[in-house]
Amino acid sequence: MADDDEKVKDEVKGEAVGGTAGEVVAEKPQEIVEEVVKEQEVLLPGWVPKTRLGQLVRDGNIKTIDEILEKNMAIKEPEIVDFLLGELKEDIIEINMVQRMSDSGRRTRFAVTALVGNGNGYIGIGRAHAKEVGSAIRKGVGRAKLNMIHVKRGCGSWQCGCGKDHSVPFAVKGKSGSAEITILPGPRGLGVVANDTAKRVLVLAGIKDVWTFTSGETRTKVNMSYATFNALKQMISTRGAL
Ligand SMILES: [Zn+2]
Repeated sequence: MADDDEKVKDEVKGEAVGGTAGEVVAEKPQEIVEEVVKEQEVLLPGWVPKTRLGQLVRDGNIKTIDEILEKNMAIKEPEIVDFLLGELKEDIIEINMVQRMSDSGRRTRFAVTALVGNGNGYIGIGRAHAKEVGSAIRKGVGRAKLNMIHVKRGCGSWQCGCGKDHSVPFAVKGKSGSAEITILPGPRGLGVVANDTAKRVLVLAGIKDVWTFTSGETRTKVNMSYATFNALKQMISTRGAL
């Protein structure tokens, strides 16, 4: 991002969060989140694709997101995901305020980590910065849509063995920064046994019953959410157990 390359002196405010110096956690402005979501809903009917992939989707030549994800094709416009998956739930994991001193004075910017998912096997995560909180949210949500995965679900629990897609098929690990998570299959009715941040990711991904173990900086929401996402992503390319 060009606008992040400003040569300014960092003025550190508060504790470092998410591994980035000078960021402080701000309250989630719920009204702004809702406004942004509404804005996106009205955008799609007039969607004019900017990429060839977008055109293929709009014209009905690609009918499912799996056709795109299985071929590892890069999604460059979020509308592709909206078009193929319909309404997605959004969860703003964290909004950080970053204050810096530059030649022209104090500058405030916002960093947003966003999740999008359908609660039924599809989830994406993204992070973005902007001068205004609303546009940081919009960009973060947009980025999350460019970073979607189809989660591999199953029933790998020896206590259960029902064969349904309520859990994960086997144990898997994920890491981001110093935050680490191990996700283990659980029996039906167990629920998502995880810390708050990991739970938000797992629930939005449509996983109902799992055990988790975490280590490292598990209270750092940005890293914890990415570690959980990375574990789910890892599962797609893994065939066996840990
Ligand atoms: Zn089961």
